[in-house]
Amino acid sequence: MEHQKHPLISPVPGTERYIDSFHFGPADAERHLYVQGALHADELPGMLVAWTLKQRLAELEAQGQLACRVTLVPVANPVGLDQQLMDTPLGRYDFESLTNFNRRYVNVADSIADGLETALNDNIAHNRDLIRDRFEAALASITPTTTLESMQLTLQRLACRADFVLDLHCDFDAVEHLYTTPAAWPVFEPLARYFGAKASMLATDSGGQSFDECFTLVWEQLRQTFGERFPLDYGCQSVTLELRGQCDVDHALAGHDAQAIIDWLRHLGLVAGEAPALPELAYPATELAAMDFLHAPIGGLLVFHAEPGIEVVAGQLIAEIIDPISDRVEPVHASQAGMFYARSQRRMATAGMIVADIAGHHSHRSGYLLAP
Ligand SMILES: [Zn+2]
Repeated sequence: MEHQKHPLISPVPGTERYIDSFHFGPADAERHLYVQGALHADELPGMLVAWTLKQRLAELEAQGQLACRVTLVPVANPVGLDQQLMDTPLGRYDFESLTNFNRRYVNVADSIADGLETALNDNIAHNRDLIRDRFEAALASITPTTTLESMQLTLQRLACRADFVLDLHCDFDAVEHLYTTPAAWPVFEPLARYFGAKASMLATDSGGQSFDECFTLVWEQLRQTFGERFPLDYGCQSVTLELRGQCDVDHALAGHDAQAIIDWLRHLGLVAGEAPALPELAYPATELAAMDFLHAPIGGLLVFHAEPGIEVVAGQLIAEIIDPISDRVEPVHASQAGMFYARSQRRMATAGMIVADIAGHHSHRSGYLLAP
């Protein structure tokens, strides 16, 4: 195992921070996996899974069983991790810029594409390496000016050559679910089975330039521009694994999730040994555009009538919002059938707030598909 420290821009003197990365497996391995935890710094199940993986990967490496290179960043967001306000951790948005830590990653597709045509040829491996070199160079040429930019760029630089990117998040109160692209689904479907994903939502571009998509969208764009004339695969496939809810920081769950990732690597032949038989997929993949955010129609006490992890029918009562002064009681119904997979942790709803998430089957949304 190799440990690297990557200094971030200090916002003020005396507050130096680092991204720490851990590297396993042969440096010249053909395949490269990148895993990070807690990019949203108040989503800590991923940090525990990453730490659990760190021990397992060190063992596998010592036993000579690791056939791929792995880069692991257990603490992807030291900035957000140090944001507490009145006993409440607030790690989703950067206090300084109010930016969501998982949005607006720099898109370098145009700079990679500039002059690329003359260097591409009929060899798919040559083209993949060439684009990775240009990807790395394009990110290296950017000079960050803020702590947030330096953090985002550091993570992008660490992951840009990886074949597979696993971004470990969680929701407020939720069951296992994930987000990936339709093109990457065949690669991650076995991981969804081992992990036990109750919902798998697919979108090519969900509109937020999030960490997972800042890699896949580059390859998507280059394939669209050059793919008819030159052989180009997806040099990077990424998935955002949602490890249940914020309070699900638990050794048994983290052990299960770390094992799911290792089983998946075995399935791909990237860890020696036979992979366990694939479990059934817990729920079919759906389009992210078919997912429903259920909103609170009024402000008031939020009382749930259902827990995440159940399949609901259209019109099913999910929650009530109660105004104890006017006695108004407003139901929140599922607008279509699907998997109720996540809900808010707040119990005083503000008017219009997202109350629950349902993976439905009828695509009806477009443009920006994510939560704020
Ligand atoms: Zn998150």
